[in-house]
Amino acid sequence: MQKIVVVGSSNTDMIIKMRRIPKPGETIIGGEFAMAAGGKGANQAVAAARSGGQVTFIARVGNDLFGEQAIKGFADDGINVDNVIKDENAPSGVALIFVGGDGENSIGVASGANAKLSAEDIEKAREVISSAGVFLIQLETPMETVKAAVQLAAHGARVILNPAPAQPLDDEVLRHVSILTPNESEAELLTGVPIENEEAAAKAATALRDRGVETVLITLGAQGVFVASDDFCGIAPGFSVTPVDTTAAGDVFNGALAVALAEQKPLREAVRFANAAAALSVTKLGAQPSAPYRLEIEAFLSTR
Ligand code: ADP
Repeated sequence: MQKIVVVGSSNTDMIIKMRRIPKPGETIIGGEFAMAAGGKGANQAVAAARSGGQVTFIARVGNDLFGEQAIKGFADDGINVDNVIKDENAPSGVALIFVGGDGENSIGVASGANAKLSAEDIEKAREVISSAGVFLIQLETPMETVKAAVQLAAHGARVILNPAPAQPLDDEVLRHVSILTPNESEAELLTGVPIENEEAAAKAATALRDRGVETVLITLGAQGVFVASDDFCGIAPGFSVTPVDTTAAGDVFNGALAVALAEQKPLREAVRFANAAAALSVTKLGAQPSAPYRLEIEAFLSTR
């Protein structure tokens, strides 16, 4: 089993559910509060560890209570935290989330220490990154850091880039990517092609492969994934479940995909495993709390 290295963000999500989202200047009393670990990098590292991976996480948190709590959570999931740096000058990343009665939300993110994760930090972790068989990264840390990381990782590892949150990418980044995993809106932002049907997904995937990406996996929510690789072009269907909360479905998909690839499963089998893990995650509330464990994924797959 190959090692997995994840680089990315760690946040604490603070959520208030209330009858409606307060307007500027307004105070509303009567909400319900919940706090949960989040951040795309951390979500994906946790999903990978729970689905059976040997995971090292590279990130920055603040030297504060949230940072400590986050590191403890990673360690409890068996993640190597030697490269989770405590930043002395920036606070831990935080997302403040209002959820209104109709399910609409309003989110403010203070990136804090996540914005300080630097190309130098990546260089310092050179040895760890070089030992990876699979390398996983997203776009919630500075682009310079992403560039340095994929460039270094591509020497020895299969690089999975989950291009979220959506933003344009240079060919300089794309040519180091083995597997790009946009969702529909990210694929549209990257290519200008609205992903309205399978044909459009094929067109977008081809455009991305022409820019240097080896394999493109466009996640299609409940429908599953559009796969575009040398061997196969078409949809790998999702699993039918009753959705409760789709937060972090994409993160769980990416974490589980990394594990299946680290186990040298062929791409389509790896996508099936990741679809199963992600389907299970939408049946539960929250980001990291919804990431399923290996045994649950195997039990689920054995019934399909
Ligand atoms: P994101 O969460 O990044 O927007 P998607 O919505 O495309 O990404 O979901 C990622 C993956 O999660 C999908 O490819 C699929 O495997 C799974 N998934 C998402 N929503 C559902 C659903 N309602 N039922 C089953 N699987 C789902």
